[in-house]
Amino acid sequence: MQVTTSTTTVPDLHDSVQSLTGVGPRLAERLARLGINQIVDLLMHLPLRYQDRTQITPITALQVGLEAVIEGEILRVDVVHKRRTMLLCQLGDHSGAIVLRFFHFSAAQREHLTPGTRLRCFSEVRMGATSLEMIHPEYHILSEDEPPPFAECLTPIYPTTEGLRQPSLRRLIEQALHSLHHQPLSDPLPEALRQPLGLPDINATLHLLHRPPPEYAALLAQRQHPAQHRLIFEELLAHQLSLRELRQRIRRNPALALNTDGPLRQQFLAALPFELTAAQQRVCAEIASDLRQPRPMLRLIQGDVGSGKTVVATLAALHALESAGQAVLMAPTELLAEQHYRTLSQWLQPLGVHLLWLSGRTKGSARTAALDALRSGQAQMIIGTHALFQDDVEFHDLVLVIVDEQHRFGVHQRLALREKGRRGAYCPHQLIMTATPIPRTLAMSVYADLDTSIIDELPPGRTPVTTVVISESRRDQVIERIRLACGSGRQAYWVCPLIEESTQLEAQAAEDTATRLSELLPELRIGLVHGRLKAAEKEAVMAAFKSSELALLVATTVIEVGVDVPNASLMIIENAERLGLAQLHQLRGRVGRGSANSFCVLLYRPPLSQVAYARLEAVRATTDGFAIARRDLELRGPGEVLGTRQTGLMQFRIADPVRDGELIEPIRQTADTLLADYPHAVEAIIARWIGQGQTYGDV
Ligand code: ADP
Ligand code: MG
Repeated sequence: MQVTTSTTTVPDLHDSVQSLTGVGPRLAERLARLGINQIVDLLMHLPLRYQDRTQITPITALQVGLEAVIEGEILRVDVVHKRRTMLLCQLGDHSGAIVLRFFHFSAAQREHLTPGTRLRCFSEVRMGATSLEMIHPEYHILSEDEPPPFAECLTPIYPTTEGLRQPSLRRLIEQALHSLHHQPLSDPLPEALRQPLGLPDINATLHLLHRPPPEYAALLAQRQHPAQHRLIFEELLAHQLSLRELRQRIRRNPALALNTDGPLRQQFLAALPFELTAAQQRVCAEIASDLRQPRPMLRLIQGDVGSGKTVVATLAALHALESAGQAVLMAPTELLAEQHYRTLSQWLQPLGVHLLWLSGRTKGSARTAALDALRSGQAQMIIGTHALFQDDVEFHDLVLVIVDEQHRFGVHQRLALREKGRRGAYCPHQLIMTATPIPRTLAMSVYADLDTSIIDELPPGRTPVTTVVISESRRDQVIERIRLACGSGRQAYWVCPLIEESTQLEAQAAEDTATRLSELLPELRIGLVHGRLKAAEKEAVMAAFKSSELALLVATTVIEVGVDVPNASLMIIENAERLGLAQLHQLRGRVGRGSANSFCVLLYRPPLSQVAYARLEAVRATTDGFAIARRDLELRGPGEVLGTRQTGLMQFRIADPVRDGELIEPIRQTADTLLADYPHAVEAIIARWIGQGQTYGDV
């Protein structure tokens, strides 16, 4: 469709980019790599930053690290031969002088860069050995004629891709702005909502961000311009709306309202060797109140390592069983699933509960029998990994899905699970547990579809773990520590983390370590567990460690989550500098579960950079999971910490849910209003940021 104005024909914003001048199939294919298909997509392709090419900066006013345009006369030229040949030009203006440094130069350049020549240059200013420098500046020789004009607005630098240069991208965006000028977009954010928040209209916003006047350079660099606020707001709003819509869609389904005061729960609590903490009781009450509703529960439990999430999950499962329904508990690793199976068997089998365990490796008649028991309803609860959601796994009456250690699954799997979990007339209740505590504002962004409960208290009687950071060169001292701890009846872990992206190499490293440690500590019984062992082998090793038959367990990071052996009081983590902070915290959480003084040794391989040392120091200095998660978020960003990066979902273009956390309250209010009163706006905003017809629900 074309819009004809009095003088020219302007392509429609929703036309393919191929209707722009100079775009053929090849260029269109490159643009598509950047997610640009329609002309309007070019407008949503936002600059990463800006250059100021609108004016000349006097040489004395230059600042190191900033880019600038300068004009001056070449004062002298030297070709120097150090390790390589370089061309150095000294350029002076009325205020001072600077060196232009060229590592590669042609004969032609040698000829025209001569003393007396006047140049206009653009580049970043660096601090050289003796004076300010520009390295390989863009330059233009000034002649007697009219000098070239300056840019009128800041020059945007866009994300680009191979075979697509900045100037071409800029020219295309120029054309798109021309289309926008002729047919402004209707703003999906109603004026009535925008105005009180001081958010400018979409057309003004896009125009400004692609063609900003120079006076906004500083504001834009700090992401403080209202036009940036508007898009950051809109992007976070799009994610909020999309998750909330998903939530509404699920909550529209009926769920079985559960009986939450049967006798099983009482029997279970009476037999437990401990009392629930106040935090556990509060969270259990929140879950019970959800489960009494005829709508699916959608609840996230955040609780630091060792806060006792398993008991809470078990109590939730008992509600399901007492209502004659089935429950499933899903863990991210076989080891953890198996560990849960063992714990829950101990607790629930005395109560006559029929519990099952299904691994990806359960094969043949064992698998058939398990599936039959599930289908017939004879099995009340099943524990396993994501293998539970293969197509042949059918439930008799699934009413509750529990997912442990959610961050390992990522948003993608969490949502896929929901779709698969829906069988029969009812939608199951869903309980998600994570040990990566994140700040409240971030949780409200990335878990907008979930209600959250926090277990903010550790069971009593824990002794805090003392952490030390030690160079690998002091390994001997560490061996002595192990000898001492194990000699007095305690147990220890030795973790060899992933060095190469290969479970085989990782397993090899763990095997080598186990061999070496056996030589150094011949008096100790040493076990080995890694991802390449068969399930039964892993199980046997873990059982032997749990029953204290083994004193030292050498392991890969497979033991990161869930493993619970209270008598273990020493944790050694090799190559600690390679692990994320949250991961170190998880591993450390394997000790300090009993009453003995516990230690965690973070071994690093020198030399350690200052940043790397600061990271280890952050883990050493605190055992507060929230503080560590906050630090990890600063260092690695939310995509890594929450495990959403690999899935491609929850990627942000301009917003940063950590940095922009304070926007979350107004965003939630705006989302409420839009969902209630402006359904078309909701669709438009989600389509623009998350993609047409590709909401989180369709994964
Ligand atoms: P996490 O939250 O890391 O999954 P777990 O559920 O594995 O923690 O609990 C850690 C340990 O604390 C387990 O041995 C568990 O039996 C014990 N535990 C849980 N709740 C309590 C409590 N209220 N009092 C004492 N010990 C508890
Ligand atoms: Mg756990």
